[in-house]
Amino acid sequence: MVAKKATVVDPTDAQGRTLIPKYPTSGRRTVRLTFDDGPHPTETERVLETLAANEIKATFFMLGQNVQKNPGIVQQVAAGGHSIGNHTYTHPNLVELCAHEIRSEIERTDELLAAYLGDSKLFRPPYGSHDERVDAIVAELGYRIISWNVDTLDWDRRYQSDKWVQHGIDQIREHESSTVLNHDVHKTTADHLDDFIARINALGLTDFEVH
Ligand SMILES: [Zn+2]
Repeated sequence: MVAKKATVVDPTDAQGRTLIPKYPTSGRRTVRLTFDDGPHPTETERVLETLAANEIKATFFMLGQNVQKNPGIVQQVAAGGHSIGNHTYTHPNLVELCAHEIRSEIERTDELLAAYLGDSKLFRPPYGSHDERVDAIVAELGYRIISWNVDTLDWDRRYQSDKWVQHGIDQIREHESSTVLNHDVHKTTADHLDDFIARINALGLTDFEVH
């Protein structure tokens, strides 16, 4: 005997058009905030204050050259219970470098951040640019790559001062799980972070998690 196939009817509106539900129709949404390119002498602290006021932990992908200039800020990030990752020393496009240079970019920063990296070492390649060669070196040095699926474009003048907030919300709304790219080196990011978090919370059923 052949089982009769169940008929699935897509929900439609009054005009008979198929409705595509926005996520989530049920269940909860996970958001992980990440901040790249710091630590910055003034803006990172402002970002930390806003995160603390909202009781949110985030991940900071730091550049070795900025860690060297602002070691006290690194301590503040760690003291706030946030996660710290390696974002290279000088922010190059790694796929354009030779293996020795790639290794040096990661290792110089690794040495500066050694006390803060923990067992699960996180790495984010600048511009999200990596290939099999880069991946092999990253893995060999004990790191795993953390990418993003929401790009606020907060670094782009066209999305400043606060257009990046709406751009980020439009993307977060569509995802069950979001890893959000921001930069704690721009005043305009620190200025509008509290509003961004409020608008994420206004989407409802949101859990903030940390890598
Ligand atoms: Zn970067």
